[in-house]
Amino acid sequence: MKYARRPVAGTLVAGALALFLAGCGNSVDPIERLGRKATHDQPSPSVPSGAAAQGAPGASPSAGAGEQAYRKWGLTAPVQYAPKPAQKPALPPAAPGKAQVVDRIPVPATEKVVFLTFDDGAEKDPEFLKMAADLKLPISMYLTDNVASSDYGHFEKLRDNGSGSTVNNHTLTHPNLRTLPFAAQKKEICGQQERLEKRFGAKPTRFRPPFGNYNDDTLKAAAECGITQVVLWRASMQINNFQYAEGSGLKPGDIILAHFRGPSELKGATEVQMTARMLQSIQEQGFRIGRLEDYL
Ligand SMILES: [Zn+2]
Repeated sequence: MKYARRPVAGTLVAGALALFLAGCGNSVDPIERLGRKATHDQPSPSVPSGAAAQGAPGASPSAGAGEQAYRKWGLTAPVQYAPKPAQKPALPPAAPGKAQVVDRIPVPATEKVVFLTFDDGAEKDPEFLKMAADLKLPISMYLTDNVASSDYGHFEKLRDNGSGSTVNNHTLTHPNLRTLPFAAQKKEICGQQERLEKRFGAKPTRFRPPFGNYNDDTLKAAAECGITQVVLWRASMQINNFQYAEGSGLKPGDIILAHFRGPSELKGATEVQMTARMLQSIQEQGFRIGRLEDYL
């Protein structure tokens, strides 16, 4: 791990989780050649108008754009979506004056659903925008101003592609918040709230601390900046494989961390290839993809 971590009383669990899972900026696993590749050279299948909605989260996964598009993006089966739940699962309550911490969604053990989150915003690959739109991927974005702001329009397109993706806060400059006093933490969080509101028209209510590192000051500062939930993760996508918080596979309700990363950070792999491998692994493990905000 590249970062010094100073465990603080009360944040040991989160610290252990962050230590186990490679967070933003960590090294990634070596690239492997896949037996498949994203078949961008194939002609796009014609998609009947209106079919896109059928592939959207909450709709029947049996037909639609998702099914027709999956081969184009290197998948061997259509992406399966979990419908919006009739009732949101009950989360542990937040402490007064502090944002609520969520690292997984407490769905029933039989409900094999996971959630996609992408962090930072360094890579802005137009092919990824096409993939996410074609597959109707609901993505919760956690954007850091100093890497994403060179083209916030890219992430606006992703937000507005009809799949229910959202823009959320990941600080101004991606510091390890645990090393900062309260006022500096608040500046990082509130500052990005203002930047995102100005650019995207609304202040997010969800925040992810860089590297998953936070302390009580973070939760208090976040709440004072208008954040209601601090969203962590239980599985982290590298280049080819997941790293899991525990065990050797995805678990129902897992929040998955991925990054907007390109070939320079993925040892030559593209964002599209990394995402295809992630989706393939989710499918092979028998999971469907849910829209995180439908459960929060
Ligand atoms: Zn990050």
